[in-house]
Amino acid sequence: MGIEPKTLEELKSICRLRKRRQDYKETLTRDTVDRHEVYANEMEMISVGKKPDNLRDLIPEGEIILTFNIMYPILFQRFKHVRAYQTLQVLGSQKLSDLRDAICCVSDLQVFGEFSNNPDMVPQFISKDHYKSAFFFFNGTFFNDTRFPECQDISTTTQEWARTRDFPEFKTAKMEDTSFYDLKMKVGFPYLYTHQGDCEHVVILTDVRLVHRDDCLDIKLYPLITHKHRVVTRKCSVCHLYISRWITTNDAFAPTEPCLFCDQCFRMFHYDDEGNKLGDFLAYAYVDPGTFN
Ligand SMILES: [Zn+2]
Ligand SMILES: [Zn+2]
Repeated sequence: MGIEPKTLEELKSICRLRKRRQDYKETLTRDTVDRHEVYANEMEMISVGKKPDNLRDLIPEGEIILTFNIMYPILFQRFKHVRAYQTLQVLGSQKLSDLRDAICCVSDLQVFGEFSNNPDMVPQFISKDHYKSAFFFFNGTFFNDTRFPECQDISTTTQEWARTRDFPEFKTAKMEDTSFYDLKMKVGFPYLYTHQGDCEHVVILTDVRLVHRDDCLDIKLYPLITHKHRVVTRKCSVCHLYISRWITTNDAFAPTEPCLFCDQCFRMFHYDDEGNKLGDFLAYAYVDPGTFN
């Protein structure tokens, strides 16, 4: 071939070296499936083409499936206009309250109050159990959640404001008495879901269609979550390992102000063996937005 044996030998050794390096690199490839993907796969395996065990739970022929994108709350700085936080499928015969119960938002898990003196009290104060009022706003009507005695009509503030500014009168209705069949909705139009006083989510209906035999046919699995946007979790500023559960201020032990801690590091730094508080600081429960990943 006109190549000197010496050059040929040199080329061969380069190729061997390259092949060896390539093989080595392949062994370094990590399995990139994370818990978000594992969860998404599991959800899909549970739901796609699922037939119910009991025939009574079979979705009747002719039922419609509505797909809703629930956007990030307006309070959330990033992604608040662009990304769907959750995508849910509901059945036309389901009540608006079923959709409300399926929307998981970090505001429902917030804990109000300062807990540096009694950190074990925290789990008893989740907002969802205390502040149950919520409404959807569809086509000029506020659909309030009135299922519990402590529910209030939190849309009154908006209605009174609108009345003083010559807006047309808004109607109110009960979300638990209204099914999606009762509504006239526009695909792609921004509607509103408000809970916890001012946690406002834009809700967009993206698709309406008849149920298909390849859909999940088990009525009990609806509303069905088909997508969740992943948020990066914020790790403890000490161990950088666990998800933060505490946020402290005025804290002499903390490297930053405010500072995030996991439960273990928080207790290790701020309490002695008997659980007595060390030093002055204020501690609040922190719920990571990545909780639902
Ligand atoms: Zn919310
Ligand atoms: Zn930690």
